[in-house]
Amino acid sequence: MIELKNKEQLEKMRTAGRIVAETLEIMKEMVKPGVTTEELDRAAEQYIRKCQAIPAFKGYNGFPATLCTSVNEEVVHGIPGLRALKNGDIISIDCGALYDGYYGDSAITLPVGEISLECQELLKVCEESLKLGIAQAFKGNRLFDISYAIQSHVEKNGMSVVRDYVGHGIGRKMHEEPQVPNFGKPGRGPRLEIGMALAIEPMVNLGGYQVETLKDNWTVITKDRRASAHFEHTVVITENGPEILTRI
Ligand code: MG
Ligand code: MG
Repeated sequence: MIELKNKEQLEKMRTAGRIVAETLEIMKEMVKPGVTTEELDRAAEQYIRKCQAIPAFKGYNGFPATLCTSVNEEVVHGIPGLRALKNGDIISIDCGALYDGYYGDSAITLPVGEISLECQELLKVCEESLKLGIAQAFKGNRLFDISYAIQSHVEKNGMSVVRDYVGHGIGRKMHEEPQVPNFGKPGRGPRLEIGMALAIEPMVNLGGYQVETLKDNWTVITKDRRASAHFEHTVVITENGPEILTRI
């Protein structure tokens, strides 16, 4: 069952989305060589709680932190800690907040100081693929039109999309139906309807799409250890097309 959100629900989701967006704005200011992922996490938690919201990931299946911080070859679900960021790193920051019973979820990948040309390209292609996917999120389209737009842009640029993790419906739960894969055939999947709220989140690898999980049982890394990026927005389908809830 895909739940369609009404006006009141959407108002709450807009607030949750705005809090997540503002938290990520703070992260953009803070990310530089020398900062630790734990410092980022602490600032994010403080801001979310100041907004009368709850960090959505903390305690989710036992995850210990507010943010997922995934550096370089780490794809998603990296755990914040004492690691200090270095010039040339890239860091994916995934953030979720629960406000008045509704969730917002968004991710960005940021450069730390000066990064390589291929990493610049990776971030650009991943963010572009998210935009292209969102542009397909309108009534009457099919879900995999979004997936196809993402996959085809990424692969045209010689990169790959992760298969093992996908986007999702979102609302009263962080993960609702439907799953939103970043690969698929156009014209397939459920028909998109007004009121559907989706977290669209391409995870893009410079090398192969294969991933594995570290012994901490959380951190997902690329099998070939090449870099990975992740951009995500929470989007709702409206009469006027896609509305991005996690953008300021
Ligand atoms: Mg997320
Ligand atoms: Mg998500």
